[in-house]
Amino acid sequence: MEKYISNDFVNEVNRLIDSTNRIVITSHKNPDGDAVGSGLALYNYLKNKGKEARFILPDLMPQNLKWLPGVDEIVTYKTQTEEADRIIADAELLIMADFNSPTRMGDAVKSFDASAAKRVLIDHHPFPEIRTDVAYSRPEASSTSELVYELLTELEGTDVLDTTVATCIFTGIMTDTGCFNYNSSSPNVFRIIACLLESKIEKDQIIDHVFNHFSETRLRLLGFSLYKKMKVIPKYQTAYIWLTKKELEDFNNQQGDTEGLVNYPLTIDGINFSALFTEKDGLTKCSFRSRGSFPANKVAAERFSGGGHLNAAGGEFHKTIGKTIYYFEKVLPEYEQYLEK
Ligand code: 5GP
Ligand code: MN
Repeated sequence: MEKYISNDFVNEVNRLIDSTNRIVITSHKNPDGDAVGSGLALYNYLKNKGKEARFILPDLMPQNLKWLPGVDEIVTYKTQTEEADRIIADAELLIMADFNSPTRMGDAVKSFDASAAKRVLIDHHPFPEIRTDVAYSRPEASSTSELVYELLTELEGTDVLDTTVATCIFTGIMTDTGCFNYNSSSPNVFRIIACLLESKIEKDQIIDHVFNHFSETRLRLLGFSLYKKMKVIPKYQTAYIWLTKKELEDFNNQQGDTEGLVNYPLTIDGINFSALFTEKDGLTKCSFRSRGSFPANKVAAERFSGGGHLNAAGGEFHKTIGKTIYYFEKVLPEYEQYLEK
């Protein structure tokens, strides 16, 4: 197994965990499998160690992850604000997992910023811009869950991988690589997976839980989006889907239901950039995916107050969905130089 994590980081985290008891883990809004998986792996590990750990997520998590070990103890900032504020104010140590910018904490950012507790960051997004005391940021990694694997096994050896911890790490790596489709060409990822399988995780059951238990309306929303709401712009090798608030409501949209939708336009031959625009209260949420060297994160950062990875990024636009797609089409020609010749 390659070793990427530094001894300094491991030793400092070890010292911080040993010298504190009330430890708060947090991750990003619109949490995905890696956010929840990496956070819960840390949470279960700390609980096993006898710490008074808490895991706070900015907003609700998707239905298809609600079976993960420890999930019932997650505190949701959006719906349990007072309790979350109390927990954050009492924290002696904060561990931030799977995000690189304070805006990703949503409304919870104020409370976290007011805390005097030491902060640890563990993340795989490029260009971290969060104030922390110690950080492990490795953008080449498949997922934050991979980094959590490195940290925990450095701290305690592979004995740390009980079924709960191993299940959470597996879920994070598996979902962030689209079931080992991308960001997973490093043999190290598969060495880690082999190790997790040795910890007696139920691989087939985990994949079934994550991908085969959605609502009927979510599948119909997918059909509607592809049939009626996808625009293809061959000249710019781009395709996008846009969904209004009303349409989302008509399909009884639940948190996480549009997750993965943005990947579909990219399966069209000749399309190298895809976007999904969903209308929220007072803003439009934007998700971007690209293939090859087209910088989805550049478009997100320069035009939609966001960021992310080269091929998977997101942001938001504080205008109606109509104005957002108009603006998107208007700025698209400025990125022509990055398209495949
Ligand atoms: P998704 O499209 O799945 O919501 O997000 C894909 C990636 O884009 C995330 O892993 C994250 O790196 C980035 N991202 C999504 N939304 C935002 C945002 O509002 N701000 C920033 N800075 N990054 C985002
Ligand atoms: Mn991630």
